[in-house]
Amino acid sequence: YLQFILWSYRMNIKPIVAGNWKMNASKDAVKSLVNGILSGMGDVSAEVLVCAPFPYLSQVETLISGSSLMLGAQNLNVNVSGAFTGEVSAEMIKDFGAKHVIVGHSERRSLYGETSEIVAKKTKAAIDSGLTPLLCIGESLDQRESGNTEAVISEQLTTVVRLTGIEAFKNIIIAYEPVWAIGTGMTATPEQAQAVHMFIRNLLASSNQDIAEKTPILYGGSMNAGNALELISCPDIDGGLIGGAALKAEDFLQICKAG
Ligand code: PEP
Repeated sequence: YLQFILWSYRMNIKPIVAGNWKMNASKDAVKSLVNGILSGMGDVSAEVLVCAPFPYLSQVETLISGSSLMLGAQNLNVNVSGAFTGEVSAEMIKDFGAKHVIVGHSERRSLYGETSEIVAKKTKAAIDSGLTPLLCIGESLDQRESGNTEAVISEQLTTVVRLTGIEAFKNIIIAYEPVWAIGTGMTATPEQAQAVHMFIRNLLASSNQDIAEKTPILYGGSMNAGNALELISCPDIDGGLIGGAALKAEDFLQICKAG
């Protein structure tokens, strides 16, 4: 009965669909992609955001003005300002109307050496400045096959909780992104994804039950127009973080409608 109450409560949480464009953009492509998304937003009740590369934040800010589409960035520096050549701060991101920022994406962890400690600091920097971090966590294929999925998820998540405190999760969106599913076309099955999402929620619940119920946990990893509905229908999956399929307005909108 208690499970049912909690589940019905969670039914009221608005699904979130976020596009991660990664390093794919041009002024022309951004214009047609954003206008394409905007033209279909009337049928979408999910919360939708697009995470653009830094140079395009300004262009997207202008294009989405007055709409419900939201803007996010894909990375940030932990410092507020100063001598950090080539880096971008949370305040700069906010200056362009962005409300969200991706932290801890597996590409940043594996290609740019971002440890869980760095990811925790970035999460805190985002929260301190009023940005909502989309905190990405997920295991590699090796880690899954050696039975370490829960240990990896637990290490990635608890490192953040230790630095920010559990209360900060009132303003954090988690994205469970199994590394083996990102950009590979090998989507996690709804059962595989739901099992890890439930593990993540239980982990949060061990610190604070109420915050655990309210924290949105998105799935990411080869989500597309064909599999989005099945995945988002799982009780602990609150939306999606979309890479490849976020680059085509039509595909992205279908996922948003599933949400
Ligand atoms: C991502 O990079 O966050 C992602 C989920 O990519 P894709 O949808 O292409 O697997």
